[in-house]
Amino acid sequence: MARDDADVPRGRGAFPPTRKSLGQHFLTDRRILARIADALHLTGGETVLEIGPGRGALTDLLAERAGRLIAIEYDRALAELLRQRYARRNNVLVAEADVLTVSLGELAAGPYVLVGNVPYYITTPILFHALTPPRAERAVYLVQREVADRLGAAAGTKEYGGLTVNVAAVARAETLFRVPAGAFSPPPKVESAVVRITPLATPLVTPDEERPLRTLVQNAFGMRRKQMRRVVRSLYALDAPAANAMLAAAQIDPEVRPETLSPEQFVGLLRVQKARA
Ligand code: SAM
Repeated sequence: MARDDADVPRGRGAFPPTRKSLGQHFLTDRRILARIADALHLTGGETVLEIGPGRGALTDLLAERAGRLIAIEYDRALAELLRQRYARRNNVLVAEADVLTVSLGELAAGPYVLVGNVPYYITTPILFHALTPPRAERAVYLVQREVADRLGAAAGTKEYGGLTVNVAAVARAETLFRVPAGAFSPPPKVESAVVRITPLATPLVTPDEERPLRTLVQNAFGMRRKQMRRVVRSLYALDAPAANAMLAAAQIDPEVRPETLSPEQFVGLLRVQKARA
């Protein structure tokens, strides 16, 4: 494994102590770092937002390839270290912030691409946060393998859930390659994978429908072992004939379980319910 000076500070004293509570597992394999940067397909003019730059191993590559790079780091000591490292690069801005409190679109102030070896304790919130319009033109994330499996899951499998449906409603998710725990320092307890998320040219939902879809999907998967007739009765306080009529209008078999519905069927149900409200 090509582990080398990505793990060593550049002549400015030691790195700050590793904060495991912030999901700090630093990627030290140069070949994998290069593959992540390659997956963004940068042409040199893009604004790139990086989530969780850490000690800057990926940031170094992005700073070379991006038109403008904004690196969002929560750890004050790491943000300061990065500010010093890139002080002479006028295309790099280090923003010390919790990424979940930042409007990515506002920070970019124009079209942008997104990348991050994200902290695993908040992977799913970050993925949802990044779905808020205006979305990145493409996003590449290093995530725990289980999350990559959920993103790509087929309806009816145990990995299929709210994350799968909500992402599929607005974007295409692909797993690019796996990353072993040994590529990090310190190694995480889980395997990882690199995924790319590309917004659909024609999303299944309008921006106004995105939040109601999240609520519907979350509530439905909260009853994933129940049949859809029971789910709809419970969600909308309907009797059985009304629930059957609603499901018929959405072309959903009342006896199937929510975990077998396609993203299109969830959207169909959302629209039937809205039309009846
Ligand atoms: N990108 C670096 C790398 O590949 O070695 C570090 C990745 S490490 C898995 C995740 C990074 O996210 C850490 O630097 C951590 O401090 C930072 N982080 C944790 N919580 C954050 C948050 N809420 N907002 C922004 N950055 C955060």
